[in-house]
Amino acid sequence: MTTDNESPLHHAEESDDGFWRNSDEEALHVSASDLERHAYCPLSWQLARKGKPGRGEAVQAGRVAHAEIHRRVEDFKNKQFDLRRALVIWSWWFTIILVIIADCIIFSVLDDEIRPPIDMAKFLTMLAVSWLGVGLLAIYFPWRQWINFPTDVEKYKSKIENMNEIVIESTLQPPGFIGGWSQGGRVEAGLLLGAITFGIHAIGLTWAENKENAAFILIIMATFWTLLASWQLQKALLADNALEIARLEAGLENNVDVAYSDDESTAGLLVDNETGLRGRPDQIVIVDGEFIPVEQKTGKIPNQPHKSHEIQLLAYISLVASTTGRAPPYGVLRYGPESIHTIQWNEKSRSRLMASTKEIQRLMVQGGAERNHNRKGKCANCSRRYACDSSLV
Ligand code: SF4
Repeated sequence: MTTDNESPLHHAEESDDGFWRNSDEEALHVSASDLERHAYCPLSWQLARKGKPGRGEAVQAGRVAHAEIHRRVEDFKNKQFDLRRALVIWSWWFTIILVIIADCIIFSVLDDEIRPPIDMAKFLTMLAVSWLGVGLLAIYFPWRQWINFPTDVEKYKSKIENMNEIVIESTLQPPGFIGGWSQGGRVEAGLLLGAITFGIHAIGLTWAENKENAAFILIIMATFWTLLASWQLQKALLADNALEIARLEAGLENNVDVAYSDDESTAGLLVDNETGLRGRPDQIVIVDGEFIPVEQKTGKIPNQPHKSHEIQLLAYISLVASTTGRAPPYGVLRYGPESIHTIQWNEKSRSRLMASTKEIQRLMVQGGAERNHNRKGKCANCSRRYACDSSLV
């Protein structure tokens, strides 16, 4: 079988399932951008393969607009992280207030004869000191690395493989967190919180010899923690306000989580080795527990989504389906903040995507791409017209 000049595809042949595979049984790679260019015009796709980049003001403006969209989405993610952290800290401090109230009740019914409070206070002091010591050691030494402690990256990879940058980061431990050298995660936070709780109980019990003193101390402590919790709650409310502003600026729907945003430099590819498809959507958001790919388009806003954009989005839906094992019911095409279209994922759209993928693989091997339209307007707007000898204008 012959191959095209620009990409040596050794002995690639059509398999029984219609996909084209090389001698290593690897499906020929077709990117979502390949599908978009090919749907626009097969010659545009071929020119891109020959190394002819898109040119023109629209291409440049599109890059700038995409970078701005990514910046806004990243800002939203950061604000979301700030809010979650503020709420987690507030909930801890509020828990301490509840613990103090529980102590008040316990002290009032404490029986000095059965177990002297001072003995219990000593025991809790030892517990608090040992938890504090272990917590500080855990923060200082990278023990996760030493014992091969599983990181959150593994958990996320099981959801979306092949993606380097993901995902609703944990408030305390971002993916890949290994701790140590003055960094603590969930385990360390639990140890320190435990030490604080035991310490507070020990102080309270020391004063429980004199129940009036104990009650007084507990009221002082409850007041102090209530002030801290109120201050933290105010921080959380401010973070919530900032998040809402960032969400509106990013043009995101309410109650939407951003799992991933492509910055074109650090984000990894989604890959389907079965079909050869690959690509990375602009964003993946989580709506009602489903991963939904979003493709942002800049420039002139059409009445209906372009077929070329639809097929590109279908590729992303298929890639999310194959990497997560769960097919998104739809994907989203956005032309600016107001023009939002959902593209359904069903058997018909899947067949359309696979047929286009196979056709591109065939063209890679056999060549013969031709203009598929007679529309002068399309050629006039084509970013590769400068290199095309079949242009209509
Ligand atoms: S100029 Fe026209 S024929 Fe040539 S690649 Fe572009 S759209 Fe196709």
